[in-house]
Amino acid sequence: MIVWRRFHLAGAAAFTYPSAGEPRVALLIPCFRETRRARYFADVESEEARRFDPEVLAGTAEQLRGLASRPNPPVVRNAVVVFTRQGEPGLAEYDRDLFWDIFGVPAFEQYLTRWSRLIATECDAHEGLHVCGPFARRTDWNLDRSPCACGDPRPRLLLRPGFSTPALDLCAQQP
Ligand SMILES: [Zn+2]
Repeated sequence: MIVWRRFHLAGAAAFTYPSAGEPRVALLIPCFRETRRARYFADVESEEARRFDPEVLAGTAEQLRGLASRPNPPVVRNAVVVFTRQGEPGLAEYDRDLFWDIFGVPAFEQYLTRWSRLIATECDAHEGLHVCGPFARRTDWNLDRSPCACGDPRPRLLLRPGFSTPALDLCAQQP
């Protein structure tokens, strides 16, 4: 068990914040290597989390919906980051509106492999998700290689309407 944990932590990727700055990020899933600015909290209302005083919440759409529906939702200053993995429905326009209404911040979606490796990340332009590293070579995805308003040269995965999240499973074997 100890060996597994070491292996897991050594192999875990660091979280990548999708916009400018280095805000304090509360990670709601325990799959990333923790850093000084990005820490995992099982409960964002815990005393430890309050001391950390996160500016960003990063979790699944379901987790963030749960927090948004609380009578006293947590304060978020910069953004929410929504993780979508294979088999998960991902972020709906309804969710974006909900998070904006409740938290008053924009939502950035990120696609992850089942091992939480970043596949694609939404930017400030909110026009598709920039595809990361080897995943940009995929030919079966609808990739837009035109310049993005954010200045990031990586191609963008155009999702709407409805990129099929089962396709993310392929990334586990065939990046
Ligand atoms: Zn962009």
